[in-house]
Amino acid sequence: MAILEEPMKGIKKVKNYINGEWVDSSTKEYGDVWCPATGEKIGEVPFSTTADIDKAVQAAKEAYWEWRCTPPLTRARYLFKLKNLFEDAFEDIARTLVTEEGKTLDESRGEVRRMIENVEHATGVTTMMTGYNLEDIAQGIDCTAERQPIGVFGVIAPFNFPAMVPWWFLPYAVVCGNTYIVKPSEQVPMTQTRIFEAIDECGFPEGVINMVHGARDAVNGLLYHPDIKGISFVGQSATARYVYKACGETGKRAQSLGGAKNFVFVMPDAELDRSMPSLITSFYGCAGERCLSGSVLVPVGDVYKELKEKFVAAARALKVGNGLQEGIQMGPVVSKKHKEKVLGYIEKGIKEGAKLILDGRNIKVDGYPNGFFVGPTIFDEVDPNMSIAKEEIFGPVVSIVRAGNLEEGLTLLENSEYGNATCLYTTNGKTAREFKYRAVTSMMGINLGIAAPMSFFPFGGAKGSFFGDIKGHGREVFQFFTDTKVVIQRWT
Ligand code: NAD
Repeated sequence: MAILEEPMKGIKKVKNYINGEWVDSSTKEYGDVWCPATGEKIGEVPFSTTADIDKAVQAAKEAYWEWRCTPPLTRARYLFKLKNLFEDAFEDIARTLVTEEGKTLDESRGEVRRMIENVEHATGVTTMMTGYNLEDIAQGIDCTAERQPIGVFGVIAPFNFPAMVPWWFLPYAVVCGNTYIVKPSEQVPMTQTRIFEAIDECGFPEGVINMVHGARDAVNGLLYHPDIKGISFVGQSATARYVYKACGETGKRAQSLGGAKNFVFVMPDAELDRSMPSLITSFYGCAGERCLSGSVLVPVGDVYKELKEKFVAAARALKVGNGLQEGIQMGPVVSKKHKEKVLGYIEKGIKEGAKLILDGRNIKVDGYPNGFFVGPTIFDEVDPNMSIAKEEIFGPVVSIVRAGNLEEGLTLLENSEYGNATCLYTTNGKTAREFKYRAVTSMMGINLGIAAPMSFFPFGGAKGSFFGDIKGHGREVFQFFTDTKVVIQRWT
């Protein structure tokens, strides 16, 4: 297999981007960035301090008023230009992403495409940001509700979608007239750095879009800064809960998207052969490191035996390797530490009495002996109370939990602490409607395995998967980034 061009050579030390300039952090502490496929160190990331965050906030605050007074269509024109710059940088961004995160090149291209779609959708600001009005709410008195930007916003991002996730929020915030700070995951800082090279080229006014790398101190710097008006967070539920609480304490707007444990139900009437490719992608795409990944496979009724046989055969056939190689269907997990966490769950599953029918622990990948690979893994005879059926593993590990009928399946969902997404495979419209009506999750796939909404529909979660009320992208997000000012006027 031919290795495609490697985008990065040597160790790269990433910088912050503040007030239109690439600047070093004031910290002396740096973290390592790894290539998950080779297991080699490829970069260093600064653990920026609260002083670095303050510098970015001051720049964003200073840029705010002029940007806020810039007509929305003019603001949108920056996004049109940025979209074209992103198209030019498309392959480079995608390959950088593969190199530091591990997913396959096709998956990375899909992610970058989704990122760009959010830029495209945000350019509709002149329609999406409009308010409403009514004359004569009392005689001679008129009322308008006007959407106004609010100030400085920020995003705190997870490792698994280094390109896309900040762009679920950033283009909407900025096109509405706010200014912005991105805090990428310290595990994957290079993709957003490549993206910011395009932002730099685009020529936004200084301070409108900033980036500060780092971990806990940088996050706390954002959460507790009095001049930040709102935070969008995506990550594990424990961190999401912490962020939401801190925003409550400091009076910030917050949309805090957490972790997931997604159940995929297959009815006896499902078209198994036709469903198998999307079922497999649901569980093993992005090596299971996706908040929409299937995690628990639920055969309903007597589909169990045939589904299990077909699913195991398809999982066993997956080509695992370096995502930059052609034909690879599943890459490594993101880090050595995360690999250990996933392996720990496999040990736990065995200990708790589940039957390991496909074991990915000792997978050997030719040419990559030090990569963080975990092969496709499947547990059968999983009890719903086992850890592997309840907790987020975030790796290529599938738990098969049987349900006698749809009612039992819905009870499994109700008992889950998470509520991000679920999927159902059936050819029966009545069953699909019943499921759609009752299942408590925020996103749902019917006869498809990854219920990923497009940029013009909202992205969020329910129960322990989401803290807040206004979700990411879609129409709603324009509300998150604006305040509705009501003006009541009488001119006599
Ligand atoms: P994480 O919570 O460990 O980290 C997310 C961000 O929070 C990072 O920028 C990190 O620097 C920061 N952070 C981590 N711990 C912190 C702490 N104690 N104090 C302050 N800041 C802290 O998440 P992750 O492991 O990078 O990402 C994977 C998780 O994200 C999974 O749980 C996945 O389900 C979730 N996720 C959810 C969605 C969604 O839409 N709901 C989308 C993508 C990923």
